[in-house]
Amino acid sequence: MTDPFQKKTSRFLKKLFTFAGTRNKKMQKGSMDMDTIKQMVRGIMTTRADEIDCAECFEQLDQFVELVLAGKNISDAMPLVQHHLEHCPDCKEEFEVLLKALRSIT
Ligand SMILES: [Zn+2]
Repeated sequence: MTDPFQKKTSRFLKKLFTFAGTRNKKMQKGSMDMDTIKQMVRGIMTTRADEIDCAECFEQLDQFVELVLAGKNISDAMPLVQHHLEHCPDCKEEFEVLLKALRSIT
């Protein structure tokens, strides 16, 4: 329980519960129950855990490019890298350069 992700998550959970508590006073009773909150949290946590940073993306980029060249379904094989490239122009550029380079030698 000492890694930064866990710490961030528990701090985030506290915030969320405080927020949900305040909202609940204004909302109708039962409109925001524990199950709803749990589901929301799970959704957010999944999103966070799924995200990789540029360093991680770069580490997997050569493998990613190889899959692309092999005609594999990349959103199936490496969805995290795929997702990162969609949101990060820098890595996308890196990817395109690498792809071009590999295409020219294969
Ligand atoms: Zn990036």
